[in-house]
Amino acid sequence: MARPCPLCENESLRPLHVAPVDVGTCARCHGLWFGRGQWDRLADRPPVRAFLSAARVAPSRCRKPGHRVSTEHRVCPTCQGAPVGCPECGQRLARVVTSACELDVCPRCEGIWLDAGGFERLEGVTNPQARPAGVGGTASHRCSACAVEVRGARAFAYEGDFYCARCRPPGAVTLDG
Ligand SMILES: [Zn+2]
Ligand SMILES: [Zn+2]
Ligand SMILES: [Zn+2]
Ligand SMILES: [Zn+2]
Repeated sequence: MARPCPLCENESLRPLHVAPVDVGTCARCHGLWFGRGQWDRLADRPPVRAFLSAARVAPSRCRKPGHRVSTEHRVCPTCQGAPVGCPECGQRLARVVTSACELDVCPRCEGIWLDAGGFERLEGVTNPQARPAGVGGTASHRCSACAVEVRGARAFAYEGDFYCARCRPPGAVTLDG
């Protein structure tokens, strides 16, 4: 069965063997899809579990650049478009941000979608701190450790949870910007 490109209308992913893995690539947008188990066969990229807890609370995007579809919305609040889906199981893909690039993760089958160029940017990144897309800014969060309320730019994210400056674990990333 053909797997659809999550981003492009009427475009199927073509199988591509990039030793040692089999991926799907889109001829139009040049994104790459790593189905279940494929990503973790790459030794020089961070493991998929580095992204999963952030993915479980992350918003999705629709096909239009820059649009976010938060978990409580069924369609994009800006354009009414559907959130992009997993090429294999149809689950909405969760948009995760790391210091190297943004990526889309399927929380169900743990597949990973990378826009063109993302694969290269993750090379050699061993311990990226991943956070859900769209957090930060002026939204406020509750510290997972002490429950104090923290403003977006002052909050820190670690494995999908938020922390205040005092409680942040080593390696937590600032949501500033
Ligand atoms: Zn495409
Ligand atoms: Zn949209
Ligand atoms: Zn899936
Ligand atoms: Zn705290």
